[in-house]
Amino acid sequence: MSSDRPLARTAWITMSQFHPHSDAETLERVRARVAEGSGRALVILDLDETLYDAGPRNAAIFAEWVARAESARFPEARDALAALLARASGESAQRMGYSLEDQFRAGGADPDAPEFQKALAPLRAFWTPRFFSSEYLRHDRPYSGAVEFVQGLRAEGARLVYLTGRNAPNMGEGTRRNLERDAFPVESGAEVRLILKARKEIDDHGYKREVGEQLAREAAAAGHSVVAHFENEPRNLVELARAFPEADAVFVDTLCSEHPAEPIRGAYRIRGYR
Ligand SMILES: [Mg+2]
Repeated sequence: MSSDRPLARTAWITMSQFHPHSDAETLERVRARVAEGSGRALVILDLDETLYDAGPRNAAIFAEWVARAESARFPEARDALAALLARASGESAQRMGYSLEDQFRAGGADPDAPEFQKALAPLRAFWTPRFFSSEYLRHDRPYSGAVEFVQGLRAEGARLVYLTGRNAPNMGEGTRRNLERDAFPVESGAEVRLILKARKEIDDHGYKREVGEQLAREAAAAGHSVVAHFENEPRNLVELARAFPEADAVFVDTLCSEHPAEPIRGAYRIRGYR
């Protein structure tokens, strides 16, 4: 059995080889590499579940669904989400789970049971346009310490790229509004950039690979050096590690999808920004 076969979540983490650094040591290492870069160092940062906790966004959408007449047709699903909301209080993505199936599990239900299977499609139809919208982005909150960390990188002269799978038409406005609201460094010429998908239909994974390759070419041409990239999604982390072999690949261990990825070697793993 090859250890490089794609694996998901805990299996991926177990089979990957991370440096044994503490969170603080990893963050300090990135800061030091930025300082050494004398204004030529570039750091790539994902947004959802990397810098931002989307748990409160999910909680707001579920609370709306639970209160709607249409959820009465799915009492078991509605009760599971209500239980989840009561426990999470909209505070933490870790308590909210990643996918709708995860949310049911977190609410103490079995998502494979017929009553939940029946509710999934209508719930997803309700959730999707709201989750991927500027309007609901206002519920998001930065992970504790994330703003100060990114501000610190910028103060050391880092060039920043926020590279997100959010799409520009539906989420660009809310994304910019949140970055400003939360005091993340925001776009100033070429030194801080926000890169969004042009359309929501574009696949996240292929998109991050393509943009990663493009950023690598641009950085080489400009004499910049990508020193670190931060991602919560294993597949994206692996793609960016390929595009930037000299950079520190930092896995932000908050929430991730079940999409399998090849185990990674020599990456860093943080659980937060403290
Ligand atoms: Mg993410």
